[in-house]
Amino acid sequence: MLFTDRWFGGIRETGGHSSNKQTKGETMQLIRFGPEGQERPGLQQMDGIVDLRAVYPDIPDIDAQFFSNQWPRRLSGLKVSGQMMQTRLGSPVARPSKIICLGKNYLEHAREGGFDTPATPLIFCKSPNTLNGPFDPVLLPRSSGQVDWEVELAVVIGAEGKGIERQRAWEYIAGVTVMNDVSGRQAQFADSQWFRGKSFDTFAPLGPALVTLDEIDDVHNLRLTATVNGQLMQEGNTRDLIFDLPAILADVSADITLMPGDIIATGTPAGVGIFRDPPVVLQDGDEVACWIEGIGTIRNRFVRQADQ
Ligand code: ZN
Repeated sequence: MLFTDRWFGGIRETGGHSSNKQTKGETMQLIRFGPEGQERPGLQQMDGIVDLRAVYPDIPDIDAQFFSNQWPRRLSGLKVSGQMMQTRLGSPVARPSKIICLGKNYLEHAREGGFDTPATPLIFCKSPNTLNGPFDPVLLPRSSGQVDWEVELAVVIGAEGKGIERQRAWEYIAGVTVMNDVSGRQAQFADSQWFRGKSFDTFAPLGPALVTLDEIDDVHNLRLTATVNGQLMQEGNTRDLIFDLPAILADVSADITLMPGDIIATGTPAGVGIFRDPPVVLQDGDEVACWIEGIGTIRNRFVRQADQ
């Protein structure tokens, strides 16, 4: 596998796997680039970055309004040269109303934790303060330890929906991306529920791009890995999801309205740190890379916060 340059050029893998459709004309990878808090919407192309504000001065940030106003459809087929530039990438989605996560959605991961396989999707939330750029540092909490990684395929919702039928679920998906569902195990297990351990600042690095589904042959057959300091820790395939994307959208939206820009992380395969023997927890300076075939890699250093 090829990990690609973090700053410019093809942030997708450039290997020749047959499931990639990067030679097609309508490929689209949405990014947000620029300093933190000042990100601009862009397209990542093989020849570099397209600054969408330079083309459409009124284009919104990649948020609920962007999807509601059909910008992905309006942008498909846009033919503009990209520019090579040194820039930071932000989370490819801004201000989601919610980040919903699936727990125990891969059989081997449920087994490694000694859990029963859930009969219905187990869902929980990360709050939006967790959102983080694909190459930004993750802050180790001051108050709680045992920080762990979870590579996950994340779905970004493109249209408001409630009571979504499985067979129509694809109409509600804007695209997919990579998320590290960073988890503070000490808080997760000490509290009687998971909110705090999952919602520390910076605990949801996302990206590098929002990849539209027309780029991906089969979203249910993508390899995914997590490495820590270059050592392979997780290796799975989305074909092993217990609940697939249509099942997840149908279940979650039964009585929870999904809004454009919402993020659903679909669960993690086996190989998280806390269930290893002996357990592994992240230390100051560790670097975690999460990769999904056909989407790309996010890479984050975990850092201790300076004393206040
Ligand atoms: Zn997770």
